[in-house]
Amino acid sequence: AADVSTISEKTLNSILEKNRTYYTQGKVADYIPELGKMDAGAIAFSVVGKSGKIFNAGDVHKKFTMQSISKIIALMIAVNEKGEADVFNKMGYFGTDRPFNHFSNLETTGKPLNPMMNAGAILTTSLISGEGEKPFLKILDLVRYITKNNTIDYNTSVYESEKSTGHRNRGMFYLMKNNGLISGNEDQLDNYFKQCSIELTAEDLAKIGYFFANQCVRFDGDSAYKNEDLARLIQSQMLIAGMYEFSGEYARTVGLPSKSGVGGGITVSVPGKMGIGVFSPALDRHGNSSAGYHMILDLVKQYDLSLF
Ligand code: GLU
Repeated sequence: AADVSTISEKTLNSILEKNRTYYTQGKVADYIPELGKMDAGAIAFSVVGKSGKIFNAGDVHKKFTMQSISKIIALMIAVNEKGEADVFNKMGYFGTDRPFNHFSNLETTGKPLNPMMNAGAILTTSLISGEGEKPFLKILDLVRYITKNNTIDYNTSVYESEKSTGHRNRGMFYLMKNNGLISGNEDQLDNYFKQCSIELTAEDLAKIGYFFANQCVRFDGDSAYKNEDLARLIQSQMLIAGMYEFSGEYARTVGLPSKSGVGGGITVSVPGKMGIGVFSPALDRHGNSSAGYHMILDLVKQYDLSLF
């Protein structure tokens, strides 16, 4: 395998061009109507390497909503505030064979499987302290901090589109309220919809991947949030459930903690080494970016990045 220090924009460009047409094998998510308007052919690939050096290819300025990728940010805040034991007393560390929006065992054990699928993620956000929009603003601030990008905000059209159609998520919210896991009002669900609508670029995702790969140290070396244990927890959740029900097979082929979102982004942590961010909105049948997955796979093979 090639040495990671030889990764360049040229490397990324050639992998991107090789996989560009994979989007034709996928489909843009349209269950949130506003997401259906995305340009299926858009594609971007970004790496933040060992010393925080950034490499970009493709539509690097193209913004998209982070969707489920926001779940790892919310988890970090909830665990920092409440402690891991409190948070995981209310949900499991389990992997899954179910899609992201499955009710799973909410009707049996009463508790969500993990914080990576919608039920556990909605619960996680509800555990962040503060009235009204405050928990969402904490998530937004942390995304801005990790990416060192204060221009990041949320897309109000996507937010409103999901708020008016997200009945399944609303159903989970009330079932968990009925089970005594959620104590607040629907503002807490709105915070989840807002965090999913945060817009960023593939480069921002690579910085997020880098942060968790490096004990929560930022790409420029800022260590205000340094926490080895928290980074281990988050990466372990990404590994077992970050790619929905495809996570097991993905661990076999890619072998790296990753989190995808239905906006077409995937963030990848290469522990101790680097962060990878990809974007291409056409999704495979599991809800993961089709071209994005293939770009990651090629980079991993070329540089032997799998953990296993
Ligand atoms: N906002 C989306 C939802 O809750 C996020 C899903 C995802 O990215 O997996 O349905």
